[in-house]
Amino acid sequence: MRKSSIVRLTAAVLLFGALWIVHGQFGNAPAKLTTVKVKDDLYVIHNDFVPGNTTALITSEGVVLVDDKFEIDHAGIMAELKKITDKPIKYVVNTHHHADHSGGNAQMQKMDAQIIASEEARQNMVDSKQPGVPNVTFEHHAHIYLGGKHVELYHFGRAHTNGDVVVYFPADRTLAAGDMFTFGDATPELIDYSGGGSGKEWTKTLDGALQLDFDTVVPGHGVVTNKREMAKFRDSTQTLRNRVHEMLGQKKSRADIAQMLQKEFHWQQLHIDRGLDGAMAEMQ
Ligand SMILES: [Zn+2]
Repeated sequence: MRKSSIVRLTAAVLLFGALWIVHGQFGNAPAKLTTVKVKDDLYVIHNDFVPGNTTALITSEGVVLVDDKFEIDHAGIMAELKKITDKPIKYVVNTHHHADHSGGNAQMQKMDAQIIASEEARQNMVDSKQPGVPNVTFEHHAHIYLGGKHVELYHFGRAHTNGDVVVYFPADRTLAAGDMFTFGDATPELIDYSGGGSGKEWTKTLDGALQLDFDTVVPGHGVVTNKREMAKFRDSTQTLRNRVHEMLGQKKSRADIAQMLQKEFHWQQLHIDRGLDGAMAEMQ
């Protein structure tokens, strides 16, 4: 193959890859959904590409859902749930305000579901004029009791955003972690400073969540995993902070730090655009 053909082919592959990412990540088209049974009464609905997770607890009185993806995925979520239960959705917890976790809120409210989030996440949705702002908020800790089952919600502090909530299912020893913890292909952490996130406080916030008594973890993005992997991720947040701090001390340039984050922490351009300046300001 001539060199110019190789260049053209490479460009085509890159463009296709970029379009695929846009398609999968930004809610322009419905994602292809698949449902995984995690426990007898607990299911996770994955997306086809960099899965953003929806968790469903099934009770005799209805469903507690964690995160409702983009609005365009609403019909898909309902179709997946129909395979599992004929009960209505009573509560939807948003782990944070990002539209790939809360975009279905308005549709869920039309079905009489209560939307619950941290006060901070709700405020972020109000500020960015997102539809379907939550009806119920809390500051640190809340409980849901439905159909004889118990769900605990915690807001331990800032991490991916300032409003990150984890959802704990004590009887199933399972935690839905939201984007405070992403896993596998979705590993790099996005510190959303414009959404109140903090790379500096992230570790402490994860420490709070790790004190809960669970084995199974549903990450915000990625396949269902375990507490050990979440603890490893926690350590990586500390390493990242130490590396940035150390390079700032050595008077390294922004470009050097960006390169280190790409190489060692697999940050993509999105992560650099939204997280680098904030991280450098915070990790001095
Ligand atoms: Zn997010």
